[in-house]
Amino acid sequence: MRIKIILFLMLLFAFASTQSQNIQYAHYVIDTMCSPTFYGRGYTSQGDTKAASFIANEFAKMRLSKFKNNYFQEYQLSSNTFSKEMKVSIGKKVLTAGIDFMVALSSPSIHGKFKIFKIDSINLKTKADIDKILKKNLKKKIVLIDKQNIKDKEVLAFLTTLKHENPFLSKGIAFINDGKLSWGASDGKKQKDFAKINLLRKSLPAKLKKIDITVEADYLIDYTTQNVVGYVKGKLYPDSFFVFTAHYDHLGQMGKDVFFPGANDNASGTAMVMDLARYFSTDTIHRPDYSIVFALVSGEENGLYGSTHLANQPLFPLHTIKFLINLDMVGTGSEGITVVNATKFKNEFNRFNDINKEKGYLKAVVERGESCNSDHCPFFEKGVPAVFIYAMGDFSEYHNVYDLPDKIPLSKYNEIFKLLVDYMKD
Ligand SMILES: [Zn+2]
Repeated sequence: MRIKIILFLMLLFAFASTQSQNIQYAHYVIDTMCSPTFYGRGYTSQGDTKAASFIANEFAKMRLSKFKNNYFQEYQLSSNTFSKEMKVSIGKKVLTAGIDFMVALSSPSIHGKFKIFKIDSINLKTKADIDKILKKNLKKKIVLIDKQNIKDKEVLAFLTTLKHENPFLSKGIAFINDGKLSWGASDGKKQKDFAKINLLRKSLPAKLKKIDITVEADYLIDYTTQNVVGYVKGKLYPDSFFVFTAHYDHLGQMGKDVFFPGANDNASGTAMVMDLARYFSTDTIHRPDYSIVFALVSGEENGLYGSTHLANQPLFPLHTIKFLINLDMVGTGSEGITVVNATKFKNEFNRFNDINKEKGYLKAVVERGESCNSDHCPFFEKGVPAVFIYAMGDFSEYHNVYDLPDKIPLSKYNEIFKLLVDYMKD
């Protein structure tokens, strides 16, 4: 009897320790990727290069095979960046970058104290008011937009166009937001000739007369960044590939003091791809029948640049890819996972669903149609069977400074990991 209990405890311990090994490794990768020395994995302060070196070092420890004798695949991208001064204050109120304000990545350098011209439901009610405002000379001012209580559809449509253009020819446009501010890097493709600033309403002082702005922008032309790619050779079919992709880049810096950690987006997917690489490479009993490629790409946030480059300059023929699984934001999971492109690959989706039902890993495996919203897309567009999996539930911070490593729950990390491993077994 006692032996049985001891055996049971030993089994339980072994089970628990393999479980915690995965989670521990995920935390290690996510904490590292989100650390301040990586500067939010953008193209300033060598953030992307440091992250890529970390991944390559891990691949080397796992002894992953290399294509062309190199884990790195270099390519160039161009983007606006903010790694220097970034200050905004209104009256005497000094605002905090990333929390109280965000400067759109399309903004040029701008320095100075500017008068504010406020547009709100008082002076903007109808289309006629738009024409009146456009006749004013606002060249030296910052136009501040407060949409609150504006109901007219034509007026609202006009306000939407201000995201991309500046018909006022003002120094810049600022927008008052009620919810948490979020940032995006796809705005950085071009530097525009006016600043665009989002402000959090609750952080603003009562009087909005003058705004003091210091933004130092650098437009990088043909900056060299890199994808990191390794593989495990298949036992039976080494020339036939499964591919796991995830983007390791994030939004980088907004000024010298603020960076976006991107724990869920997408340190989580990076961790899982590296964890899968570790699983399939370190223990010979896990050696797969088919070759498995682990591709961590950059440039996703700016416009799927890394995956597009890899799809255009593949390191092995694309037609030899049996299936590609892209992981982007898998740090949650209490509500299950969604499979983008599931409607295109019914058999593969059903297999995920069947395994999940049999093993009871996740609450739901949800089918979603085609969408060019992550790194599976450039491959799919070239005819590669590809899906994109993301997790759902219990964490909603997205593209903001609160997407932190100690906040993402990794609630179903092990379950998603196991579902993927089971999927790879025949
Ligand atoms: Zn993102």
